[in-house]
Amino acid sequence: MIDLHVHTSRCGHAEGAVAEYAAAAAAAGVRTMAFCDHLPLPAGYPSGYAMAWRELPDYVSEVRALAAECVTSGGPEVLLGVEADWIPRHEGMVAEALDAYPFDIVLGSVHFIDDWAFDDPDLRARYAEWTPDRLWKRYFDDLSRACASGLFDVMAHPDLVKKFGDRPAHGLRVWYEATADAFASAGVAVEVNSAGLRKPCAEIYPALGLLRACRAAGVPATTGSDAHTPADVGRDLSAARHLLREAGYDSIMVFRGRVAEEVGL
Ligand code: ZN
Ligand code: FE
Ligand code: FE
Ligand code: ZN
Repeated sequence: MIDLHVHTSRCGHAEGAVAEYAAAAAAAGVRTMAFCDHLPLPAGYPSGYAMAWRELPDYVSEVRALAAECVTSGGPEVLLGVEADWIPRHEGMVAEALDAYPFDIVLGSVHFIDDWAFDDPDLRARYAEWTPDRLWKRYFDDLSRACASGLFDVMAHPDLVKKFGDRPAHGLRVWYEATADAFASAGVAVEVNSAGLRKPCAEIYPALGLLRACRAAGVPATTGSDAHTPADVGRDLSAARHLLREAGYDSIMVFRGRVAEEVGL
C-alpha cells in the first residue's frame, strides 16, 4: 500500500508524532508513506488549521531524520511532503516556502472559500449562505485556478466540497469534466483520498464520476488516507484501489524529489 498523505500533531488538529505514524504504517502494510502536514498559512488566518512558520524547519528535519532511520531499520519508505493551501494573492509566499526545502511531494488543497474554512465542522452553519450550485461553481473554479498555479504536484481530496453531503441535484458532470481537463492541462495528479469515507459524505474523494473523467483526460493518480491519527494510516486504501480500478486505472504515482514514478496498482 502507498499512503501519500498523513499529518502529524504539528498542524494543531492531528495527534501523533512522526515515529508513531511510521510504526503504524509498518503495521498496516504501507510500504511507502509521505508526510504531508499543512504548510503554514498567511498571517491573519486562525491557528489550528496548519503548523506555525516556526515549526516548518523542525518538521522538515524530523521527517528527513525518520526517513534516514527507516532506510537503516528496514521500515517503510518515508517521503517528505506538504499539503499547501491555495490562497489567491499568496502564491508567492507558498512558492518561496516550497523552494526552501527538498520536498518529495506537494499536495495542493482548496480548504478556504474567501476566509471560510468550509470543511471545518464548527463552521458548517455558513453553508446556509450558499446554494449547492453556487458553492460547487465557486469551489471548482477555485480548484481549477489552484492547479493552474503550477505550485502543486497533486490535487488533494478534489471534491472536498461534498464533505457534509450537500451537492447540486444535477449537472455534476460539467464540473467533473472541466476539473479533469484543468488537471490534465496543468499536469497535476489527482489524489484518491479515503478520508471521505470517515466523513458525513461517506464516500471517497473524488466521486467515481470525477475519477473516471480524470482517467479519460489522462490524469495520473495517487492514494492517501489523510490520517490525522496514527490509527488511520493506510485506512481504506484497498477501497481507494478498488475505485481506481473501477475508473479504469491500473497504476498510480509515487513522487520523489517532486518527480512522478509509476507503480502498478
Ligand atoms: Zn488537516
Ligand atoms: Fe486537506
Ligand atoms: Fe490532509
Ligand atoms: Zn487534507
